[in-house]
Amino acid sequence: MSTTTIQAALAAAAPGTRVEGTVPVGNMASGALIGLPFVALRGARPGKTLWINGQVHGNEVTGIVAALEFVNAQDAGRLAGNIVVTSTANPLGFDARRKNAPQDDNDLDMSFPGRANGYTTELFAHHLLREIRAVAPDLVISMHAQGTQTTSRTYTVYKEPPEAPVRGPQLFPYMAAFEPSVACRMSVLPGSGEILGNHSGALDYQLNMAGIPTFMVELGTGQRADPAEVLRGVTGFADVCRRLGIVDGALQTGMRVLRHVTRRGHFPVAHGGLFRPRQKPGEVVRAGEALGEILSIHGHVVERPTAPQDLIIIAIRVDPVVHSGDRVAYVAYEWTEVPV
Ligand SMILES: [Zn+2]
Repeated sequence: MSTTTIQAALAAAAPGTRVEGTVPVGNMASGALIGLPFVALRGARPGKTLWINGQVHGNEVTGIVAALEFVNAQDAGRLAGNIVVTSTANPLGFDARRKNAPQDDNDLDMSFPGRANGYTTELFAHHLLREIRAVAPDLVISMHAQGTQTTSRTYTVYKEPPEAPVRGPQLFPYMAAFEPSVACRMSVLPGSGEILGNHSGALDYQLNMAGIPTFMVELGTGQRADPAEVLRGVTGFADVCRRLGIVDGALQTGMRVLRHVTRRGHFPVAHGGLFRPRQKPGEVVRAGEALGEILSIHGHVVERPTAPQDLIIIAIRVDPVVHSGDRVAYVAYEWTEVPV
């Protein structure tokens, strides 16, 4: 039976030590290695395994910084279990400061399970999924960040295909460690109209189908590593490890109720101009209240996007330049409060 790189590195590591390396994927024309970098802590005692994937989208970097700060703060000699960080699953997108690898411009989170002899992005998907499945961690956290046109508070997302053995409620206590503004179940049913694209190609979809519990954290904003957001990530990883029994000690976060969102939508506008937001991420907006207004280039208010029903602002636009059809907010239409 062949072993994978990270599985082999963990098996070879002495208890209570740290190992680092790169999973080889291929090479550039110049000969430079293309690979998936990782850091792994093998605990002194056996226990559960947490896997943090720092990014799938190359310009979303807060999660990488938080994950590396977190593992650097851990003493492997005191852990019961293992922590694996794959810093970037998309090294060519990361180097280029782009969401997608410029070589093929495919979205990695729509490319899983990938192909061993596929396009660049499919190679990344194939190798990461193979490495994770070989180790079979108890929990995987897939880190993302908000796009630069909008602002949000940290939130979490999971996909729950009807036939998946992993169900949302088992993820909620771990999500609460990040004190998310909302915890969203993303509909993967055809015609949900939520986000266009191949949902089954997402890392969390594939792993939840494989029985490996996985969710996404939207931490911070693209191409930024805001210190407060990094701290939220580090604190969240630590409490996840306490809940998994990998790290000792009392929980540092105290969220008791999650706002579990089951329907979301975007808010496109009809008029071009300059959008001025009037609401903040995480806030409830009542039916009939304006989300903001659009000022025409001649200075007139030409549109007030208005809540058709009560909703929660997940993200709201901060780049004011909008054209007809652009989105000014990402909102939750249906939610319940669930205890954790
Ligand atoms: Zn992303």
